[in-house]
Amino acid sequence: MLEAGRVYCQTSKSFVNGLRELGHQWSTDNMMEDCLDKFSKKLSVILDAQGEVIETIQKSVRTKLQTFVKEDVRRFKDVRKEFERSSETLEGALARNAQAPRGKQHEVEEATNALVNARKAFRSGSLDYVLEINVIEAKKKADILLAMLSLMETQAQFFQQGHQSLSELDQYCQKLSEEHTQFVLNSAREKRDMEQRHAAIKKKDMSYDDSVLDFNSDAANGIAMEGYLYKRASNAFKTWSRRWFSIQKNQLVYQKKFKDQPTVVVEDLRLCTVKPSSENERRFCFEVVSPSKCCLLQADSDREQQAWISAVQNSIASAFQERREDTHSPRQRCSSVSMSSLGGGGGIGEQESEGCKALEEIQAIPGNKQCCDCGEPGPDWASINLGITLCIVCSGIHR
Ligand SMILES: [Zn+2]
Repeated sequence: MLEAGRVYCQTSKSFVNGLRELGHQWSTDNMMEDCLDKFSKKLSVILDAQGEVIETIQKSVRTKLQTFVKEDVRRFKDVRKEFERSSETLEGALARNAQAPRGKQHEVEEATNALVNARKAFRSGSLDYVLEINVIEAKKKADILLAMLSLMETQAQFFQQGHQSLSELDQYCQKLSEEHTQFVLNSAREKRDMEQRHAAIKKKDMSYDDSVLDFNSDAANGIAMEGYLYKRASNAFKTWSRRWFSIQKNQLVYQKKFKDQPTVVVEDLRLCTVKPSSENERRFCFEVVSPSKCCLLQADSDREQQAWISAVQNSIASAFQERREDTHSPRQRCSSVSMSSLGGGGGIGEQESEGCKALEEIQAIPGNKQCCDCGEPGPDWASINLGITLCIVCSGIHR
C-alpha cells in the first residue's frame, strides 16, 4: 500500500509533465499554451500537496506498525512461547505416565502428580495464549482503523482543497469554452470558404507550368531566386539529379533536402558567366562557368531556362553594383556582365573619365598591355571569369 502510494504520486506527476510538454508544442499559439500552462501548473501544485499528504500518512502508518510489531507482537510471541513450552511439558508428562510400570507404586504416583501439574500449567498457558490472540487481533484492528480514519480525513481534506483550488479556474474555463465555440464556428466557416475556392480552382486548367520566380535582389530572406533544377554530376557517371537551387549572397547553392546545409556551386557569382548549352542531348540546359569549374544545369522548360539565365546574369550585375556602392573603387567599376568594356569604346558612358582611370590601372598590371589572344596592344575589353584583357575583336569571339 505504501509503495503503491509512491508510484501513484510519481505517475500523476508524469501525467502533468505530459500536459506541460503538450503545451510546449503550441509555443506560438497563445490560447493553447496559456490553457495547458494554467492547467498543468494548477495540477502540479495540487499534486505536490498530495505528495505531502501521502508522505505524512505513510510516516504515521509506519510508526504505528513499528510500535505494534516492537511491543504488542513481541509480548504476544512471549506468551505463545510459554504456551508451547507447557504443551511440550504436558506431552513429556503423558509419555512418562504411560511408561510407568504397573507394579512400581512409587513411580506411578510420581508420574501421576507430574501429569496433573503439567496439565494445570498447560491449561493456564492455553488460556493466556487465547486471551493474547484476542487482545492482539483487537489491537491490530483498532490501530489499522485509526490509521485508515486519519487517512480518510486527510484525503477528504485534500480533495476539498483541490476542488477549491481548481474552482479558481472556473471563470477562465468559461472564457475558454466561449473561445472554443467561437473557434469551431470560425474554422467551419474557413473550411467552407476553402472548399469553395478549392472547387473553383480545380475547374480551371491544371496543366499550366509552375510559376517561375523572378529574380529579386531585395528579397527579405536574402534568396534572390530559387527553384528546382537538374544538375549533371561532375564525376564520370554524369548522372542527373534534381536539386533545390538558390541564389543567395552572390552565391549559387543547392540543397538535396530542405534542412540540408546548402552546397555551394559558385562561391562568387562575379567570377562566373552563364550561357545556354545546346551541346547536351537534353533540352533547357545551361552552363554556369566559373574559373574552377563548369556546372551543367537543366530547367523544366524553356521559360524556366530563360528565367534562370537572366537571374544569374542579374545577380552578377547586382553583385558588381553592390561593390560599387560599397567601396566607390574604380577598379570594381568595369563590368556589369562578365564580358565587359573597360571604359573605352563600348563602355559605360556616364563614368567615362573614371572608367579611363580604371582602364589605365588595369593595363598597368604586367601582362595586360596586349590582347591575351592576338597580342594587339591596348586592349580595352576583359573577360572577368578568365581574368584576361582582350581586344574588341577577340572579346566578340569570346562572347
Ligand atoms: Zn585580340
